Amino acid sequence: MQSCLFCRIIRGEVPSETVYQDDLAVAFKDIRPQAPVHLLVVPRKHVPTLNDVKPEDNATLAHLFQVARQLAEQFGVHQKGYRTIFNVNAEAGQTVYHLHLHVIGGRRLSWP
Ligand code: 5GP
Ligand code: ZN
Repeated sequence: MQSCLFCRIIRGEVPSETVYQDDLAVAFKDIRPQAPVHLLVVPRKHVPTLNDVKPEDNATLAHLFQVARQLAEQFGVHQKGYRTIFNVNAEAGQTVYHLHLHVIGGRRLSWP
C-alpha cells in the first residue's frame, strides 16, 4: 500500500524507533506513548484490521503475539504486567488502518 503510514514506516520512508524486525513483522515505539512502554507490532503484509485477517494469516497473527511477549520481556514489563491490544475500527479508536498490536506497560493500567 503506497500511502499507508505503517507500510511507509516498514519501508523506511517514515522514520520510527524500530525495536524489532524479521521477515513477517516489524515493531517500533508509538509516537504518542500512553505508558512508559508503548510499542506497536505490525505485520509486513498490509492488512487493514483484524476483521480482514484470513485463515492463511493465522501464522502471522500468532507471530505478532510471540514478538509482543518477547518485547515485553526485553522491556522489563513481562512480570509486573502489560496489555496487548488490537483496536478494531472507529468505535474502538482505530486511527491507522494497518493491523497493529499495541504492547503497553510500565504503569498500572485502568480498564478498559
Ligand atoms: P490505533 O489508534 O489505530 O489503535 O493506533 C495507532 C497508533 O499509532 C497510535 O497509538 C498513534 O500514537 C501511533 N502513531 C500514529 N502515527 C505514528 C507515527 O508516525 N509513528 C509512530 N511510531 N506511531 C504513530
Ligand atoms: Zn499498510
